[in-house]
Amino acid sequence: MTQHSPDAPEFHNPTKTLDTNTTVTCTGCPMGCQVTVSRGPGGDWQFTGAQCPRGEHHARQEITNPVRPLTTLVPVRGSKTPLCVKTSEPVPKSLFRDAINHIHQLDLACPIHIGDILVENLLGTGIAVIATRNL
Ligand code: SF4
Repeated sequence: MTQHSPDAPEFHNPTKTLDTNTTVTCTGCPMGCQVTVSRGPGGDWQFTGAQCPRGEHHARQEITNPVRPLTTLVPVRGSKTPLCVKTSEPVPKSLFRDAINHIHQLDLACPIHIGDILVENLLGTGIAVIATRNL
């Protein structure tokens, strides 16, 4: 069995053939089940090791379109400290660089309130960017 981290190259290319067993750690709860993904005789994916259905869902997501929460700091006019922002939902890893570039180009000014939506539809994903504090 081969262990792969979520940063392994195959996770960035959904079209890559998964020709060896891959193990994904489910982050759905503190159990941290090790979900093994392999190809069945017919070429379909098989998932073993999950203690509940969320494990297969998580592993399938990891090998097709991995997502991560995105937080970053943005300068704000009128403030000496940058603003920490976060996305409303995890962002596909393939979009991280463009998403961060887009967020860093925002022209923000005080006052900003916690929960303010700074971007409604980040790169057409439907994901919002939200202020995490008052400034
Ligand atoms: S598969 Fe279910 S039980 Fe296991 S870590 Fe994921 S959510 Fe928790």
